[in-house]
Amino acid sequence: MDKESFMQWLSSEIPETLFPQIAAQIIFRCENCGECCRGEGYALVDSADIKEIARALQISPSLARARFTEPDPGKNPGYRILKSIGLDRNCCLLDEQARRCKVYSHRPRVCRTFPMINDPAKSEEIISFYSDCRGTAKFVQILQEKKNDPLVKEKIESLTTDAERLQDLRIMLFIWLRSMMGEIEEVEQICSITGVSLPQDESRFQMDCLAYFLITMTTDGLDEYEYEG
Ligand code: SF4
Ligand code: SF4
Repeated sequence: MDKESFMQWLSSEIPETLFPQIAAQIIFRCENCGECCRGEGYALVDSADIKEIARALQISPSLARARFTEPDPGKNPGYRILKSIGLDRNCCLLDEQARRCKVYSHRPRVCRTFPMINDPAKSEEIISFYSDCRGTAKFVQILQEKKNDPLVKEKIESLTTDAERLQDLRIMLFIWLRSMMGEIEEVEQICSITGVSLPQDESRFQMDCLAYFLITMTTDGLDEYEYEG
């Protein structure tokens, strides 16, 4: 496969809406406020996620599996769900007193890609702006502050006039997501086919993501967003 056929595959197989979602997730900074860990949430985990949880808690994966997970009612192959506990049915890995995740730096991938990357089949919105998510409030603030920033405008201009740069950025967004999912072999393959690699300069990548998000998504109506946490 060469770069051109990879791009054809990307356009035909990956929904267009996923790219602004990935860009948003890269800009987004979770504040570990624990709000999204409350109430029955059905966080799906596979064996790689369970291994990470076990590593964080220094127990065996089989113990972590038995202690913290149960069968997935949706029967997704290869997945279980994190147990919900207590009257409030909060995630069993939430530290109730500290209101934080107990395995935050090893949290499952579904928690790492929340809240910007969502399944279009399960949500009517491309991006979900949760009013009780502190990170989303910050994200909205960044969009409002930066959308008229001359540097961001310059980036928007260069991405909209340079088709190859835009194409490479889309590849980078896809690579970022796959590497977040732990698909290291696939990432290496894509890098070698396309000649595009994971970004080295994080702040530059963030700025590109912001510009990409503003090119692909409207900020109309965001002034009405209110954080209610
Ligand atoms: S694993 Fe951590 S981040 Fe994920 S839902 Fe449970 S408490 Fe929240
Ligand atoms: S509600 Fe938002 S900021 Fe809080 S833990 Fe969840 S994703 Fe992070």
